[in-house]
Amino acid sequence: MINKTLAEVESEENPSDCTLESKASVLEMISDTLTSNGVALQSVKDDVNAVRYEMSNLKTRLDKLSTDLTRLMKCPTCGKDISPDFKLCPFCGELLHPHIFVNTSQLQQISARTS
Ligand SMILES: [Zn+2]
Repeated sequence: MINKTLAEVESEENPSDCTLESKASVLEMISDTLTSNGVALQSVKDDVNAVRYEMSNLKTRLDKLSTDLTRLMKCPTCGKDISPDFKLCPFCGELLHPHIFVNTSQLQQISARTS
């Protein structure tokens, strides 16, 4: 009974089979396109995520830089802005850490006393 109905329906639709087939292939193409679009979208998403990750890295580095910048001190000799982490001024080569100066002057005092 059902088979017969299906056969009838099929025979009725036979003339438009060609159209249906081409529609089906169009649908398949659309589906393929959607899939490849999905793949492309996924890679774009990955790129965006990578860029976002880079941005957050950059932001961290910028934050650190701006912290470093607010911590900048001036070289006592040439007056240029330098990081307090430096032991030597990169511009004039001046020794920057006070204890080094102290030690140097103490050394001079010690050598003055011993001579
Ligand atoms: Zn300097």
